[in-house]
Amino acid sequence: AKRTGRMKTVVFSDEHEKDVREAALMERTLREADLEAEFFLTFQPIVDSHEDRTLLLECLARWQSPVLGFVSPGKFIVAAEQSGFISTLTPVLLKKALDAIRQWPEEVGISFNLSGHDIVSAEKVLGLIAILMKSGVSPSRVEFEVTETALMMNLDEALANIHRLKATGVRISLDDFGTGYSSLSQIQKLPLDKIKVDGSFVRDLETNDASRKIVSSVTALSRDLSLSCVVEGVETREQLDILQDIGCRLIQGYFYSKPMKEADVSAFLAEQYAI
Ligand code: C2E
Ligand code: CA
Ligand code: CA
Ligand code: CA
Repeated sequence: AKRTGRMKTVVFSDEHEKDVREAALMERTLREADLEAEFFLTFQPIVDSHEDRTLLLECLARWQSPVLGFVSPGKFIVAAEQSGFISTLTPVLLKKALDAIRQWPEEVGISFNLSGHDIVSAEKVLGLIAILMKSGVSPSRVEFEVTETALMMNLDEALANIHRLKATGVRISLDDFGTGYSSLSQIQKLPLDKIKVDGSFVRDLETNDASRKIVSSVTALSRDLSLSCVVEGVETREQLDILQDIGCRLIQGYFYSKPMKEADVSAFLAEQYAI
């Protein structure tokens, strides 16, 4: 038993060393990357399921690195968040998002993800606001998604900065709702417009009564608080039917579309809007 224990320790520390080396390489590669050229956005529709109309597209970052190849956001966003590099990347991505939206119908907006590092700093938020203002895109077409985890980095600073953002006319949505740790107590402190219910509650909607009840009560809660509510991760017709029965109208997920390249968005929207 003792020997097994020691072997496990060795295996663990090897693995750990590999993780640390990989993280260091990723961080260095990020810092040296050509952000303009290597990073691009994909866009996933958020649909009013009663009308089958896209209201917004969530901007989801992709990295094609000449050194590391294609790196998933699950990896590079986490690495960029850990090192704080994300706040260098975010303005570059926001400019790309605001460029893309220009080609779409006026009624269609973007939903853009912000990290903790982006919203704890007044300077960085003012930088993002400047980019928005300079773009000429109406703030009414722009939403920013924040997570509870991001807010928790420094709630007071984050709150002040979210108020700065809101003052421009953008909307704020709370992403990954239900996966954080504070949920309800924070909601009332935040000037929120929308809640995004995490896809993990949708996965077993057909079979799990508890998931259904959770989504149902979040929907009721958002209605009582006059917030909109989007359910993420909807992949099947069955899930959509259940969600519509519950009263969830705004839907995001593979059922409507996977995240699309910018070049494909216009054709997708053309089927819904006269363009
Ligand atoms: P998120 O903000 O919760 O974004 C939703 C994720 O769910 C996306 O993964 C999307 O592709 C995926 N998804 C959408 N519909 C479905 C579905 O029906 N089924 C399944 N299985 N998955 C679905 P993605 O693009 O890999 O992004 C992962 C995470 O990386 C995002 O989660 C977000 O936290 C972060 N991220 C991506 N782009 C950005 C960015 O520009 N800035 C920041 N700060 N974070 C970003
Ligand atoms: Ca998001
Ligand atoms: Ca989410
Ligand atoms: Ca997430």
